[in-house]
Amino acid sequence: MKFRIGNGYDVHQLVEGRKLILGGVEIPSEKGLLGHSDADVLLHAIMDAMLGALSLGDIGKHFPDTDQNYKDIDSKLLLQKAIELVKARGYQVVNCDSVLVLEKPKIARYVPAMKTTIANIIGCGEDDISIKATTSEKLGFVGREEGAVAYAVVLLQSL
Ligand code: MG
Repeated sequence: MKFRIGNGYDVHQLVEGRKLILGGVEIPSEKGLLGHSDADVLLHAIMDAMLGALSLGDIGKHFPDTDQNYKDIDSKLLLQKAIELVKARGYQVVNCDSVLVLEKPKIARYVPAMKTTIANIIGCGEDDISIKATTSEKLGFVGREEGAVAYAVVLLQSL
């Protein structure tokens, strides 16, 4: 059995007039993330980690923001495409650990729904998906509520 590990990072700007979608779950908020897709920063970091584990480049390569097919697309569909790439190469996800950095709103109550959503798409157990959240202690662009950041690590094993 072969193991491969990848890490992912993403950042999106927080603006008024957009929905806040994190981990595939819509969260009530005054501001939402800006992007070509639904700007789900957490799913993007997880996808980048999965692609990185297999040296497949990044999500910008597979789902370019110049492609109108991906305009306002639900990132859950992109995650589905990314896991299909992983499976096509003979791998499956062992586990994923992630960190969301966001000043507000508090997202703890939404984490179980995010874990269920992601696990169902990836085809692993909910306990194999870890989502941690922290603020930036009011420092920097996250602290000023101008954006959100996500980090993820994904371990794959050969089927
Ligand atoms: Mg992104």
